[in-house]
Amino acid sequence: MSVLDSPIDHSVEAHDGLVQAVREFARSELIDLDRRCDREESSCCVEFQRFCEMGLTGLRIPESFGGLDCPAVTYAHLIRELAYASPSVAVTLGVHNMVGEIIAKYAHEPLRSELLPKLVEPDNLTGFAISEPDAGSDTAAAKTRAEKVAGGWKLFGNKMWVTNGMTGRWFCVLARTGEVGGKDDFSMLLLDARQAGVKRAMIKGKMGIRGSETAEWALDGAFVPESNMLGKLGDGRRIGLTSLGGGRIGIASQALGIAQACLDEMARYARQREQFGRPIADFQAIQWMIADSATEIAAAQQLIDRAAAMKDAGRKFAREGSMAKLFASEAANRIAYRAVQVHGGSGFVNDCRVEQLYRDARITTIYEGTSEVQRIVISRELVRE
Ligand SMILES: Cc1cc2nc3c(=O)[nH]c(=O)nc-3n(C[C@H](O)[C@H](O)[C@H](O)COP(=O)(O)OP(=O)(O)OC[C@H]3O[C@@H](n4cnc5c(N)ncnc54)[C@H](O)[C@@H]3O)c2cc1C
Repeated sequence: MSVLDSPIDHSVEAHDGLVQAVREFARSELIDLDRRCDREESSCCVEFQRFCEMGLTGLRIPESFGGLDCPAVTYAHLIRELAYASPSVAVTLGVHNMVGEIIAKYAHEPLRSELLPKLVEPDNLTGFAISEPDAGSDTAAAKTRAEKVAGGWKLFGNKMWVTNGMTGRWFCVLARTGEVGGKDDFSMLLLDARQAGVKRAMIKGKMGIRGSETAEWALDGAFVPESNMLGKLGDGRRIGLTSLGGGRIGIASQALGIAQACLDEMARYARQREQFGRPIADFQAIQWMIADSATEIAAAQQLIDRAAAMKDAGRKFAREGSMAKLFASEAANRIAYRAVQVHGGSGFVNDCRVEQLYRDARITTIYEGTSEVQRIVISRELVRE
């Protein structure tokens, strides 16, 4: 059963109940799962069926296709709540929902109508494969090529860091369909990764979000039918970069959830731990760490809400999305650092949750565009204006 039993009202206020329900679910059921996945370096996708039952796989999918069609503001709050309990679950579902949006926007009929209802169901996890061993921030350096064959394309190349890349099925793959050096070199192809031409290997030994699947792929003739072209031939980088603009609001929200969990842990420990005959919360040095963290969290929330509200209003939000991601992710790292500091030696050991949160926070300044890339986006937009 979905968390929403009643007909869907699209206002943000109407989704407060949904945010509350997801908060309760996440805090009661996901923290233990997340801790176990971190310890064992195992995938949180073992609970994917449960995520589907909760409606979490169709957050941005139109209601007519079985989704919840949440506004971007509500969606951001939901990702924050998931990340509070499990940063790995948050990114798994964040990527899946972002790809759902891409398919809703760029897939052609009948693919769009056939696929969207499947995405809310088990066994249809999605992801996007843009990065490559030699193409990270510089997406235009991607070498994966799509060769034209009867009825479609065959993909050859290597993709790196594919989130959901082990059990996922549907992937947006950026591939060269034009001449090297041409303006419209790349296209975005929707690949069914359940085929022999896709060789997947799990990337082990990650510092954080160890419950999120990250894979390395070798594409050796994987077939994509003609009808699975997203947008038009040559649109690949535009689709990728525009979609990542929205994804950044999701990563900012993931960072915010981590930061809030760190703050709560910090405040709880400061009340309970005594030194020099009083709770450490009585010391001004500790109070300042808590105050600075709470202030940065409030600022990050405002930036996220502003970017998401602009997205909901159909306005351009690339700069605001980058600002939200830059600020929230850097703040999450500062706050995680303070959370360990407040815990003293206890925070350095992995049975203490802040030790994991400190590691989990680290990725948020890297993926979906590093902090340096966000600064480029922000300043480029300003200079253009
Ligand atoms: C756990 C994880 C999951 C991921 N999931 C996905 C996924 O699902 N799909 C996907 O396609 N990718 C994914 N990525 C890839 C991720 O988006 C890239 O790691 C990221 O974009 C940075 O690329 P890079 O690692 O190649 O670093 P590089 O681009 O090599 O950057 C190295 C350093 O140089 C800096 N730098 C680069 N260019 C500039 C510049 N012009 N100016 C200033 N500084 C610069 C960077 O900021 C960084 O500090 C994932 C990565 C990780 C680690």
